[in-house]
This record gives sequence, C-alpha cells and structure tokens, in this order.
Amino acid sequence: MSEVSKIVLFGATGSIGESTLKVLRKHAEKMQLVGIACHSSYRELLKIAREFEVPNLTIFDERAFEEAAKSPDLPEGITLNCGMNGLLHLATLPEVTHTLFAMVGVTGLRPALAAIRQGKTLILANKEILVMAGELITREAKKNGATLIPADSEHNAIHQCLNGTEKPELSRILLTASGGRFLNASLEEMENVEPEDALQHPNWDMGPKITIDSSTMANKGLEVIEARWLFDVSPRQIKVVIHPQSIVHSMVEFVDGSILAQLSPPDMTFAIQNAIFHPRRHQRIMETLDFTGELRLDFQPPDEHRFPCLRLARESLEAGGACPTAFNAANEVAVQAFIERKIPFLKIPTTIERTLEKMPSPGLNTLQEIQEADQIARKLAESSLTNA
Ligand code: NDP
Ligand code: MG
Repeated sequence: MSEVSKIVLFGATGSIGESTLKVLRKHAEKMQLVGIACHSSYRELLKIAREFEVPNLTIFDERAFEEAAKSPDLPEGITLNCGMNGLLHLATLPEVTHTLFAMVGVTGLRPALAAIRQGKTLILANKEILVMAGELITREAKKNGATLIPADSEHNAIHQCLNGTEKPELSRILLTASGGRFLNASLEEMENVEPEDALQHPNWDMGPKITIDSSTMANKGLEVIEARWLFDVSPRQIKVVIHPQSIVHSMVEFVDGSILAQLSPPDMTFAIQNAIFHPRRHQRIMETLDFTGELRLDFQPPDEHRFPCLRLARESLEAGGACPTAFNAANEVAVQAFIERKIPFLKIPTTIERTLEKMPSPGLNTLQEIQEADQIARKLAESSLTNA
C-alpha cells in the first residue's frame, strides 16, 4: 500500500481553502492535513483543526494568535505559531510532502521558497507568488528538485493538456477567461461601478481580491504571467480567449495544429483534486458535465481597450525585470483602494499604468531584490492614488 501524503494548507479559511477541505474530506485515506494557516480567522481555523485533527497551526496576525492561544477550543497538544516564522515553520516541517498555497497576495513568497529549498511539492493557487518571482521560483525549483503543480483552474487545465509534451511540440497556450462581471459593459457603464457590483462573479464563488481582479481582467493578466513561468513559454505563445461559460478551462495548441482542451464544471474542487493527487486520478467528489441537455460553449477575442489591465500585464511581462512585480503590487494597492471606495473602478488600470511608467526596472535575482521592487511599486502606486 502506498504511503499517505502529508499536506500543509496555507489559507485554509479562504475560498480555495474551503474547496481543498472538501476534497480532503472525501479522500482522507490518501492525504493527511498536518498543517494549516490563516491570517486572522482563528475560530474557523480551530474548527478545521479539530475536524481534521491537524497538529500544526499558524495564525499570522498576532492578536488573533493570542486569542486562539487562550481559547477553550484550542485542541490539546497542538503546535500554534504566528507571523512569518509560523508560516516558515509549516513550510519546512520534515514530514510534509505537499504544500498548498492558497493565501491571497505576496505573503506566500518566502514560505514557498522555503518549501522549494526542501524539495517539496508545491501546489499553487496563490498566483501572486509566480507573478512576483516567477524566475526565482522556477530556477530554485529546478535546482532543488521541487515540483510545481498549478491549482489555478486554467493552469491546471494546461498542465493536464500538456501531460509531459516536449517543448518544441507546443505551439501556443489558449488561456480562457470568463470576461468577468462587465464582459459586455461599456466604458461609460464601468465608470460608475461600485465595489458591491464588482464583487459579484457570474460563474465563480471566490475571495474578494480575485473577484475584483476578474472584473477588471487583471486576473487574466496575472494568469498570463503565471503561465509564462509555469510552462516556460514566451509571452507571444500565450493567447487569451474569452469563454463566458467557464467550462473549457484552457486549451493547448500543438505544432501539428491539434488543440486539446480540459473541461469540467466551474468549481475549483476539480482543479484542486487534480493538482494535489497528480499524477494519479481519483474518484470525483461532485457531478461533472452532462451532455444530455443543452450545453453552449462560446468563444470571442478579448477587448483590451475596455480592459486595459490585460494589455498592461502583457506589456509588463514583455518588459521583464521588475515590471511584472510592479504590475502585481500596483494592482493590489489599487484594488484595496477601490474596495475602500477611495478610487473609482476605472482608476485601477490607471494606477497600474502610472506605476509602470515610473518604475525603475532592474533585473531581479534575489528574494531581497524582489521584495524591494514590490515596496517601491507600492509606494509609487500609493502616490498615484493620492495624485488622482
Ligand atoms: P480568500 O480571500 O478567500 O482567502 C485568503 C486566505 O488566505 C484566507 O484563508 C486568509 O486567512 C489567508 N491569508 C491571507 N493573508 C494571510 C497571511 N498573511 N498569513 C496567513 N494566511 C493568510 O482568497 P481565495 O481563496 O479566493 O484566493 C487565494 C489565492 O488563490 C489567491 O492568490 C487567488 O488569486 C488564488 N485563486 C483563487 C481562486 C478561487 O476560486 N478563489 C481561483 C484561482 C486562484 P483569513 O481567513 O484569516 O483572512
Ligand atoms: Mg484562474
């Protein structure tokens, strides 16, 4: 009998975390949860710890950590840590084989590098890690024999379609995008969008940051950058295709003209299950597509005029250096400001564009250089918000 794999879940209390727990609940005999982390939702984390009998917990926020430490709900004999050291502790637990990154933002970068340096398998939903530090992460993974498996649905689809294809046989990647909430909206209509409108996604139920990113299509921009690093392709080999139903999760075109696609319902459990058990396949946990009824699959090209974040992401990838890091940082600052009603919706791409214009762009080779570039871009973005 094969040994049970041991997994750490960063972002256990979020949307991807919840989908991951559904998969683990169904396949408990194949994969054991040995560590979980959240930012501050400690009650939820303790609940998960009890249900899955998780021995190692990290709560990033110090106040929430202190609350948890004195909570009567804290199971006995558990290791509880906080802050970055707590995340690094989980990433480097010797018994751990798999680490799943489902935190939002850039916090996952250091723990991801730590897990890579121990040759662990990384399952990546947390796309910001690859966007900020794709070159460093892929180089270190190669050097340390760590495996990177995408859990983002599009990249997981591409990973499945490629299935070990030799690089010269790959022609291009067709990255599908739902088009988000404002697919058919005019720029005038987008001018008055409120955060509540942008927080509704037609197909996917996700955390707030990625839902806003889908509505500006910055999410697809981040995914183009993510694909460049995961699959070692040039920016020109990645083409975004609008597919409003979110059923074809992406496609791969080979040099002989054949195109392979991966299809499943718009529910993250499919991609997560595939990623955590790769290269094996196990019984699905929910119903898949049914072709006995009507099923429409539509495709159309994206409109970069109404969705400039797509163009800005592509340009930042082509420019290289610190530009993708700056794209990500400026987007995070602008999305937060939009959620807090400090800027209008269409100011999100403007903030990114102004940041990229002013961003010094040296090559980024080390974690420190990446973190410095991230901080510079955040400051530039903040000042572009206030100089609106
Ligand atoms: P959510 O906002 O739903 O969840 C974020 C999770 O990260 C929460 O568990 C949160 O804890 C935790 N977290 C945030 N900051 C920290 C920190 N400093 N230390 C420890 N934990 C932290 O986000 P999603 O699940 O939607 O997204 C997670 C990632 O996956 C993002 O990178 C997103 O782009 C990507 N992704 C998401 C998809 C989706 O369907 N949701 C699809 C594809 C990719 P707390 O609850 O305490 O705040
Ligand atoms: Mg995606």
